[in-house]
Amino acid sequence: MDKPEHISIRYLKGIGPKREKVFAKAGINTISDLMYYFPRRYEDRTHLVPISQLRPGETQTIKAKVLALGQHNSWRRRRFNITEVAVGDDTGRVSCVWFNQPYLKEYFKPGTEVILYGKVELYGAKLQMSNPEFEIINDATDSQLSVGRLVPVYSLPEGFSQRTLRRLIKNTLDKYLPKLKECLPYDIRRRNNLLNLVKSLLNIHFPENTELQKEAYTRLSFEEFFLFQLPLVLRKLKRKDKRGIAHKVDGELVSGFISGLPFKLTWAQEKALEEIKLDMVSPQPMQRILQGDVGSGKTVVATAAGLMAIQGGYQAAFMVPTEILAWQHFNKIKEQVKGISVSLLTGSSEKKEKDKIYKQIGSGDIDLVIGTHALLEGKVKFKNLGLVIIDEQHKFGVGQRALLPAKGLNPDVLIMTATPIPRTLAITIYGDLDDSVIHELPPGRLPIKTILFEQADRRQAYKLAKDELKLGKQVYIIYPVIDESYVMDIAGAKKMYVDLKAGEFKDFKLGLIHGRLKQEEQDKVMDEFKSGKIDLLVSTTVLEVGIDVPNATCMIIESAERFGLSQLHQLRGRVGRGKDESTCVLISNAQTEEAKHRLSAMAKYSDGFRIAEEDLRIRGPGEFFGKEQHGLSELKIANPLSQMQLLKRAREEALKLLGADLRLESRQNLLLKEKLLQKFPEYEKLMLVG
Ligand code: ADP
Ligand code: MG
Repeated sequence: MDKPEHISIRYLKGIGPKREKVFAKAGINTISDLMYYFPRRYEDRTHLVPISQLRPGETQTIKAKVLALGQHNSWRRRRFNITEVAVGDDTGRVSCVWFNQPYLKEYFKPGTEVILYGKVELYGAKLQMSNPEFEIINDATDSQLSVGRLVPVYSLPEGFSQRTLRRLIKNTLDKYLPKLKECLPYDIRRRNNLLNLVKSLLNIHFPENTELQKEAYTRLSFEEFFLFQLPLVLRKLKRKDKRGIAHKVDGELVSGFISGLPFKLTWAQEKALEEIKLDMVSPQPMQRILQGDVGSGKTVVATAAGLMAIQGGYQAAFMVPTEILAWQHFNKIKEQVKGISVSLLTGSSEKKEKDKIYKQIGSGDIDLVIGTHALLEGKVKFKNLGLVIIDEQHKFGVGQRALLPAKGLNPDVLIMTATPIPRTLAITIYGDLDDSVIHELPPGRLPIKTILFEQADRRQAYKLAKDELKLGKQVYIIYPVIDESYVMDIAGAKKMYVDLKAGEFKDFKLGLIHGRLKQEEQDKVMDEFKSGKIDLLVSTTVLEVGIDVPNATCMIIESAERFGLSQLHQLRGRVGRGKDESTCVLISNAQTEEAKHRLSAMAKYSDGFRIAEEDLRIRGPGEFFGKEQHGLSELKIANPLSQMQLLKRAREEALKLLGADLRLESRQNLLLKEKLLQKFPEYEKLMLVG
């Protein structure tokens, strides 16, 4: 069958092996790929401006005939070539200049019709356009596609001009659109007022008007969201068919732990725990993400979940991204929980120790193991793994995240993140997970006072720090790098530690920690800081993740413009963990608007959700989530940030559709299934197995 999805672009007129290769690089292999190669933007050429009405200072479009062309070298600089073209229409003439593009003379033969688009300037007394974009109009097709309308502007694969690509796409649409099958079921289109596929593709490339362009954009975005959600939703629904472990969630161990805590759980913690409990008591495997700002008390909730698994005779594994964090959790849990056997497994554990732990994990002698990536090693074999907890999930790849649960038989999985994001967005990347949110901090926490200082105010920052130190409080000073860079003029932790120790803070006990120190040394320094033997800790971002020292009340972040917004917020979360008011000082000489925006957002907002939203807006979803985390970078046209409502609807429709027809067997879903399989070949497997 000659479906556009299966026909190589090789069969298009004008596409030889060379262009085929160029297209392949841009991800265009089939005719349908080309039809889904959307314009980057549009140029409004519905209103061409008569030359007599050109206005200096404005960016305008004209259609004119080439009258004369001249080229010369600048008399000032010999190698500076100027192409000057005089063009005119019925109302007047104007001159256009291009610099150092001598080959242009091939294009501007007198008599040729051209479209010119650019800024109009006053040159002496004369109007001129310099370096305008231009397009040659050769025939009726060109004028139909490029004049008097919204004109598509594409990212150009190598060797193409807008004109050739436009014509190629137009021809392809004309010939193959009738063969393209609508993939969205009629009901879904009707319910959501979506344009049909043919009309959408036509209007996304060559809009009849702005309204139709918008409708086309909506429809094609919906389609992308919808296809993207289906595998996630399928995975989620199928999980309900799987048999996991029905844990014994009520018991001494959990209730003893909770009543033994020196505080009462917040309402949000209780609610999250209740949701987890319901998941764990049911035989369906849990896949839940627990979102909550730094310091909101996720770890306590996770620990309680671990105990639910353990009191029924299962093992729990708790994976964290850094050794420091592993140690901290290990110590805390050992202190809070009695009557279970807890071990720590990290990359720097000694071989003998490791072998012993492997054995104990295998025999079931260890109830709870806390560790880093080291937990993923092949030698780690559980007797009966019942719960997997993964902290700071974004520090692990998707693949890594799946490895640990694979060591059990459908164990429950709890994933935690301190970079909370709006719910609608969460469904794009965590779409196959259930979602719990801790949206409040424990009571009594004072907001952290955040101050922006310029480099010149550093003295003042040091004074603030000293005031805290004199009260017996502790301080962090954070640098973006270990070694200073003269080129970029940023101070590094190592040298500043020496300077500060001998100078400004000579009356206090200083410590230094960074990622190049041996693990034992890092641990030693951290311990000394925790126990109060160190007053002031000079550090790099190794501190970013989850360190908990309530007595630390002041943090100074140097070259703050070099950190991302979420990262700054994570760092800041290391203070304000006790009863006393804390301060965070951001020192920078931020130059760019973006950096200034970031820093002022830090001063303005304390809520992690708000910060994450801002960060998302600044960086865009692709950057924010990191490339390999998810398929967001595959979205070609849809934008989860600006089209949240549409995304939500697509999600709901996906749930409804698969809820009624899990294997897409009904007649009205056949074309959708075809499209899906072609987009995600693994979908078939997903439908049939696990
Ligand atoms: P997160 O992992 O979400 O960053 P933690 O679980 O590390 O937060 O909790 C931060 C600090 O707050 C810890 O010292 C913890 O003991 C304490 N904490 C947790 N829950 C409460 C609560 N309900 N009331 C008071 N303090 C709490
Ligand atoms: Mg934490």
